[in-house]
Amino acid sequence: MIRSLDSAILDAASLLRSSRFTTAFTGAGISVESGIPPFRGEKGLWNKYDPRTLEIGFFLNQPEESWKVIKQIFYDFFGKAAPNQAHVVLAGMEQRGMLSCIITQNIDNLHQAAGSTVVHEFHGNSMKLVCLVCMHTYVYGEISLDTLPPRCPKCEGLLKPDFVFFGEAIPQEPLAAAYDAAGKSDVFLIIGSTGEVMPANQIPPLAKQNGATIIEINPQESHYTRWITDIFLQGKAGEVMGKLGEILFSTPLHND
Ligand code: NAD
Repeated sequence: MIRSLDSAILDAASLLRSSRFTTAFTGAGISVESGIPPFRGEKGLWNKYDPRTLEIGFFLNQPEESWKVIKQIFYDFFGKAAPNQAHVVLAGMEQRGMLSCIITQNIDNLHQAAGSTVVHEFHGNSMKLVCLVCMHTYVYGEISLDTLPPRCPKCEGLLKPDFVFFGEAIPQEPLAAAYDAAGKSDVFLIIGSTGEVMPANQIPPLAKQNGATIIEINPQESHYTRWITDIFLQGKAGEVMGKLGEILFSTPLHND
């Protein structure tokens, strides 16, 4: 029997309501309706840019070349994006005690912009820049990108966006938080991730192995769908999360 999306959303809402620890695991797909394309796929950024420019070795050898691409993708472009309904509903779930944490592979800061506070950034955040010499960090906006590569105002060291380049290790804090969440979650909500990016892609199967029910939102099947997903909500993140939010938030907040 083929189930309708609406009936699957009702099932998902009921699981989310009864869950004691829910984790949202988000990928580039959640920000597509905010106007940020993913890396992969038909309209992905890799059709336009060379992924090598985001390798750490390339960056250190040719910072100006790398920074030209980084500026176009992450600052001229990402900088203008605003959270969509999916980010907003996740923030509302946290506020109502229905979401324990977000583990995001994204670096666009849109979860925080929507109001989420427990966000573990697996791949860092593009809104911070770090000096590779004195390690001082700056908020994007404090530093001019008119001359590339940008230099540290304190020591003239090379500035690097504080996100994880290809070939760099995942920071300890989000890694530990992700393993912790994968061990505790009753429900694990995967939104907009192909499941192809290592080592982040190992977290959802670990949650499944530890007993979590996997709910997945994606317009297309991912690496996870036929493998670990229990409820597949096939559709765009903003649309599906909008419907889910209507059901979940039909009960007012205690302090409303
Ligand atoms: P991906 O680029 O590999 O895949 C994107 C996924 O999103 C696909 O499965 C696609 O079907 C799905 N998708 C497309 N439109 C969607 C929509 N409207 N709603 C829900 N899902 C949708 O993404 P990934 O697996 O997250 O890996 C790419 C890596 O690149 C990430 O780890 C991240 O660090 C980085 N990245 C980040 C951003 C960002 O910060 N917004 C953007 C591009 C890439």
